[in-house]
Amino acid sequence: MIIVLKPGSTQADIDYIEEKLNDKGLRVHISKGEERTIIGAIGDERILREASLAAYPAVEKVLPILKPFKLASRDFQKENSVIDVQGLTLGGKEVRVMAGPCSVEDREGLLTVARAAKAAGASFLRGGAFKPRSSPYAFQGLGEEGLVYLSEARDETGLLIVTELMDPRDAELVYRYADIIQIGARNMSNFTLLKEVGKFDKPILLKRGLSATVKELLMSAEYILDQGNRNVILCERGVRTFETETRNTLDLSAVPLVKSMSHLPIVVDPSHAVGRSDLVAPMSLAAVAAGADGLIIEIHQNPEEALCDGPQSLRLSEFADLMKRLGAVIQVMGREL
Ligand code: PEP
Ligand code: MN
Repeated sequence: MIIVLKPGSTQADIDYIEEKLNDKGLRVHISKGEERTIIGAIGDERILREASLAAYPAVEKVLPILKPFKLASRDFQKENSVIDVQGLTLGGKEVRVMAGPCSVEDREGLLTVARAAKAAGASFLRGGAFKPRSSPYAFQGLGEEGLVYLSEARDETGLLIVTELMDPRDAELVYRYADIIQIGARNMSNFTLLKEVGKFDKPILLKRGLSATVKELLMSAEYILDQGNRNVILCERGVRTFETETRNTLDLSAVPLVKSMSHLPIVVDPSHAVGRSDLVAPMSLAAVAAGADGLIIEIHQNPEEALCDGPQSLRLSEFADLMKRLGAVIQVMGREL
């Protein structure tokens, strides 16, 4: 149930309604917009119906939940969510670029990539430290050693760190090093993990599952939001289709679709979407033109020797070229880097 308060409602009105809802055993989420306040009441729908909320003087209207997600929806919050990552905003006017290797492989390589990413204009360094792969015999990531290298690269370049958490048992460790905690496509429906990161006070980058609908992505976001963490960034990274020339199919319509359904920011990962480095630049440009709030791109100092996802990784010079071309699209979209 979404309760829209009349313009000019006071804090006392909000407190009063919150108290009444709490008395009935309902949980409350409050969203204060520029014009009006909206209260999301969560709990047993039967109690909600009986609560005759529309009778309260400060209430303008009461809307039943039409969607299986609430806190993530545009109905709940009209304004875009602008996420603060250590003072850097995501979801505002700027388009943020995250770049780095699929996985952290060694200290020198990571520092080389980080310096190049910074010089080209990226704001974030991506890199996985935990990398369970399709084969249990493939490189599995450096674990904490990889996180230490990431934080060294952050200290030197000022790039903020995006890295994936896969296992709730590593939650504290990853939390300590990451600026944005990534939830991978294969874990989009790992609700235990989503609830765990919902308790964090750091932003979460939630990737769309391999065969997930946009609605399912938003329901997964809802798990995190409902635990109290409002800092969720969605990520379109391609979905499985019948096409075999590309690794996945980049669903760019998801960008404006998410924007119409939700207030959360969305970034695009063209690398995992296409799986081929030659298609990464055109899809990056198209993603920004579609309204993406950012990009997350795999780059490597020597893609031929990458331990993971080399064929889709841009060379450092290719990334620098892309960043130059991106500037024009960013400008046309009325945004900034
Ligand atoms: C990644 O970004 O490192 C990754 C494994 O991507 P995805 O979860 O989208 O497959
Ligand atoms: Mn990868």
